[in-house]
Amino acid sequence: MAQGKVLEQRTDDEIDKACVQEEAPDAIHFDVFTLFPSMFTGPLSESILARAQKKDILTITLHNIRDYATDRHHTCDGYPYGGGGGMVMRPEPVARAVETVLNRPQGWQLPEASAHFDLPAWEPDKPPVAGHPAPVVLLTPQGRRFNQDVAAELSKHSRLALVCGRYEGVDERIRTQLITDELSIGDFVLSGGEFAALAIIDAVTRLLPGVLGHETGAYNDSFSDGLSGILEGPQFTRPPEFRGESVPEVLTSGHHANVQRWRRQQSLLRTLERRPDLLALACETGRLTPEDLLFLSRQGWRPPGSSDDPLPNG
Ligand code: SAM
Repeated sequence: MAQGKVLEQRTDDEIDKACVQEEAPDAIHFDVFTLFPSMFTGPLSESILARAQKKDILTITLHNIRDYATDRHHTCDGYPYGGGGGMVMRPEPVARAVETVLNRPQGWQLPEASAHFDLPAWEPDKPPVAGHPAPVVLLTPQGRRFNQDVAAELSKHSRLALVCGRYEGVDERIRTQLITDELSIGDFVLSGGEFAALAIIDAVTRLLPGVLGHETGAYNDSFSDGLSGILEGPQFTRPPEFRGESVPEVLTSGHHANVQRWRRQQSLLRTLERRPDLLALACETGRLTPEDLLFLSRQGWRPPGSSDDPLPNG
C-alpha cells in the first residue's frame, strides 16, 4: 500500500491523481466457474455492479461446471477416498471447464447446445499449460484472507478466473495443478464459493476508475489509502435532528477545514475503539501524521513498542 498523506492535506490535483488507481486497467473481466450460475443473476443485475457492466468497465462470463461433465448423469461430485462425510468435487469437469475457457478469447462461453456432449476437444492427461492468461483463484476458507489490500491487488488485473467450490470442496489435484491463488472471505464456512466470489467481484469492481459516481471513488472508504488504512468515521444526512439526536454542529458549519479535521479525528477515534490493530499498522507503515499522533496521544494511545507504552494490565 502506498504511503500517503491524509486526504485533508492533499491538493485537489493530488487527490484526483490518487483516486485513479495506479496501473488500474480500464476494465476487468471475470470468468466465474460454478455449479450454480443463477445465484449470480440478482446481485449482478442491481446497483453499482449493473452500472459498471453497462459502462463496459465490468464484464463477467458465468461458466457452469456441470456443462463440462460428460457422463450420462453429468456427475460433478464423488465420495471422498478414505471415507468420511460429504462429497468432493471431481477434478475432470473443473479442469476441463477452466482450461477450455482460459485457452479461448476473453468472453468466450460454451454454446448451450454443446454442453456435455459436444464439448471442444480436451486432453485430460495433458499437463496444464503454465502461464494462464489470468490468475485462477480458488475460493476456500483455507485461503489467504481477502481484504482491501488484496482487492486493490486484484484490481490491477484485467482478467480474473474465480473457481467456486461446493460440497466438501474440490479435489486437491485441482488446487495443486490449476490454481494460482486461494482466497477466503473470513474464518467461517459457507456452503459454496458463490457468495465469496460475489463479495470479491464487488470489492474489486468498485476500485476501478469510473465505477463509483463521486469524484473520490472508493479512495476514502475504510481500509483505503485515502484514510491511511483506518476506519471511516460516522456519517450523517438529513434530517438535522432525529429522535432528539442532532447532527454534530461542525458538519453544518460550512467550515471546510474544520469539517475535515473533525472527520479525521472521528476516524482515528473509531479505529482506536474498534480496531486498534489498524492504528498500529498505519503507524508502523508511516501513514499517521504528526497531527494524528498528537491527537491519539491525547486519547492515551501510544505507538506499540514506544518506551511509554502502557503495561498490558494498565
Ligand atoms: N470442507 C471445507 C473445509 O473444511 O475447508 C469447506 C468446504 S465448504 C462447505 C464448500 C465451498 O464453499 C468451499 O469449497 C469454498 O469454495 C466455499 N467457501 C466456504 N467458506 C468459504 C470462505 N470463508 N471463503 C471463501 N470460500 C468459502
